[in-house]
Amino acid sequence: MDFDFLQPTDLDEVCKLLNEYKGKVKIISGGTDFMIDLHKDELSPEIEYIIDVSNLRDLNYIKEDDNKIIIGAGTTHNEIANNPIVNKWAPVLAKATNSIGSPQIRNRGTLAGNIVTASPAADSVPALLVLNGKVKIKTSSTTKEIPLEDFFIKPYQSKINQDELIVEISFKKPPMECKSGFKKLTRRKAVDKARLNIAVLALQNNIDEIEILRIAPGSITPTPERFEKTENILLNKRPTKELIKKAAEQVSSTMIEKSGYRWSTEYKKPVIKTMTRRILTRVLEVE
Ligand SMILES: Cc1cc2nc3c(=O)[nH]c(=O)nc-3n(C[C@H](O)[C@H](O)[C@H](O)COP(=O)(O)OP(=O)(O)OC[C@H]3O[C@@H](n4cnc5c(N)ncnc54)[C@H](O)[C@@H]3O)c2cc1C
Repeated sequence: MDFDFLQPTDLDEVCKLLNEYKGKVKIISGGTDFMIDLHKDELSPEIEYIIDVSNLRDLNYIKEDDNKIIIGAGTTHNEIANNPIVNKWAPVLAKATNSIGSPQIRNRGTLAGNIVTASPAADSVPALLVLNGKVKIKTSSTTKEIPLEDFFIKPYQSKINQDELIVEISFKKPPMECKSGFKKLTRRKAVDKARLNIAVLALQNNIDEIEILRIAPGSITPTPERFEKTENILLNKRPTKELIKKAAEQVSSTMIEKSGYRWSTEYKKPVIKTMTRRILTRVLEVE
């Protein structure tokens, strides 16, 4: 396949090109997913132009204001995992991005790339879901922001249109007292995507009742999502081993409800239950 390789120097130029060559153009950022699609001949035959956004400084930043953390779409997993603002306000995201691939993949792969690929196993996504992340999308004439939970349509398909560029991902600063965790299970001795992952964010009041609980397991539903029914089992209660067990069982049964019984279910059913029990026990500090 032959492509024209375009390297615009600012966001307006990217959007102008996306608009001009709509349907014939694809963005490349870190290239860690893109190059695999190219290698497997899975790029649409319509594509004639590649827009490289990997060197755009306007997409590479991590900022905070009084209420929010804002991450440029082209920020790499490594930059996020090692950033002091992220580690202070959103250690769950630092941990998730630090678990991605290998050092080489984390140095190239970007947050927007991970989201747009829309893999059910993406590691940054459960962490961003428990942070109630939002995605800012720009075209040549508009800018809009949508909650990440509304961004996915089905495995490997998101709501991003061909003339749209993700410019940033943001989330409100969680209360400082929030506790969180991220757990991931992969094949041993392989640089591979998650077999299963889960992110949790919680806030307990001074009598230990749970005021905020957000649980997002990955790799067990067609598109990543929060498990609100499971959260409700524990919300406004003091956590106990029994309640956590009930919540863990609920994650397992919701997985089957949403994904059906598949070849991997025999394995995933007990494993996600154990992962959920362990992470909730640790985050909620239940003896
Ligand atoms: C060996 C290996 C191991 C991996 N391990 C993991 C893992 O453990 N966990 C995990 O979650 N992922 C893993 N990945 C997947 C991959 O590294 C991530 O999904 C990465 O974040 C993709 O980012 P990128 O910048 O490389 O995206 P690219 O490959 O450049 O692009 C991916 C998609 O996003 C689009 N895109 C990129 N930026 C934008 C933007 N700003 N606006 C609109 N569209 C955009 C592209 O057009 C393309 O469709 C692995 C990949 C490899 C090759």
